[in-house]
Amino acid sequence: MSKSQRLDDNLYVLGDKVYCTRCEALVGAADSWLKYALTTERPAQERGGSLMRAAPSLYVDSTIVFRQACCPGCLTALLTETTTDSDQHVRTKRITAQQ
Ligand SMILES: [Zn+2]
Repeated sequence: MSKSQRLDDNLYVLGDKVYCTRCEALVGAADSWLKYALTTERPAQERGGSLMRAAPSLYVDSTIVFRQACCPGCLTALLTETTTDSDQHVRTKRITAQQ
């Protein structure tokens, strides 16, 4: 039988699957740790709070978004980031050993 391993405060790995520690919902797999998460993207200025007052277009050519991924079972926030809309792999977790 496989032994689970904590990935962070909200996630653990069992075999090649990733689960929520709070509700046990399946969140991801070896190929994508947030595969089954509920992900939303909003304009960064809309959700960036006081740190995002100026329009990002004044400083960068890319569209900047506020992205949040939540557990599909209990809606715990698993990932929150401000990034370009085209960049899907800014923050990742590796659940298999590097070879
Ligand atoms: Zn959950």
